[in-house]
Amino acid sequence: MEYLFGDSVTALDEDGAGIGVTFQTGPPRRFDLVIGADGLHSNVRRLAFGEESRITEFIGAYLAVFAMPAHDGPDGEARAYTAPGRTAAYYTAAHLDEARAVLIFRRDRAHDYHHRDIPRQKALVREAFAGAGWEVPRLLDAMDAASAFYFDSITQVRMDGWSRGRVSLAGDAAMRESRSRGLRGGPDQGTDDGLNDLSDQALKEHQGCAGQQSGQELGHRYTLR
Ligand SMILES: Cc1cc2nc3c(=O)[nH]c(=O)nc-3n(C[C@H](O)[C@H](O)[C@H](O)COP(=O)(O)OP(=O)(O)OC[C@H]3O[C@@H](n4cnc5c(N)ncnc54)[C@H](O)[C@@H]3O)c2cc1C
Repeated sequence: MEYLFGDSVTALDEDGAGIGVTFQTGPPRRFDLVIGADGLHSNVRRLAFGEESRITEFIGAYLAVFAMPAHDGPDGEARAYTAPGRTAAYYTAAHLDEARAVLIFRRDRAHDYHHRDIPRQKALVREAFAGAGWEVPRLLDAMDAASAFYFDSITQVRMDGWSRGRVSLAGDAAMRESRSRGLRGGPDQGTDDGLNDLSDQALKEHQGCAGQQSGQELGHRYTLR
């Protein structure tokens, strides 16, 4: 396996014999198959299937998760505060060096922000939790000092198919539901487990080209509905 770090795909150009890939910094290359495994905001998906706004659906809330010093957290348990439209919680766990804080808030419409603009995301969290009681002010201060911070909308990827010609999607790029909604059968299940199976299947199906939905894809799409 060859890894190219610090680069990104800027164009895909498919013909009968293969697919040409243009990179941001490296020289162009040709491949038999391209698999986009680049997350909810997939660049490969945008290039092959169209703009993210047409493919994803905001389903009404935002989630922030961040690390804070373990001594600020409860010992092996979770504590939570819930008020209309917003929930804050924090916990420690034996496998974590730091405590985790989780802040969720509802919104009718999606905010306009860049998914890499962390100061703006933290400002949105502060705005959503302004005036909240309990330990929320302390959690918000911990957020500003956090060594790790995650923020995203609760968003679902909705696609008619995960393959087009020689391009296939896997993982969150193809089927991200949300941290809070989860797959059918249980809350908070991610797509990690499905990623390897799906990639293997795509590779098998695309030997010599293809572009059809596999039986596995159809089955998995049913699970996600
Ligand atoms: C807070 C939280 C808790 C979670 N808990 C669980 C859990 O308990 N169990 C579980 O199964 N799942 C969990 N998940 C979900 C899980 O993390 C994802 O489903 C999984 O990481 C998806 O893997 P992926 O490889 O498809 O995408 P990602 O992990 O998002 O990886 C995408 C990769 O593509 C790279 N990339 C993105 N854009 C570009 C670009 N333009 N050019 C080049 N590279 C790019 C990114 O840097 C990244 O390395 C959790 C997620 C979150 C946010």
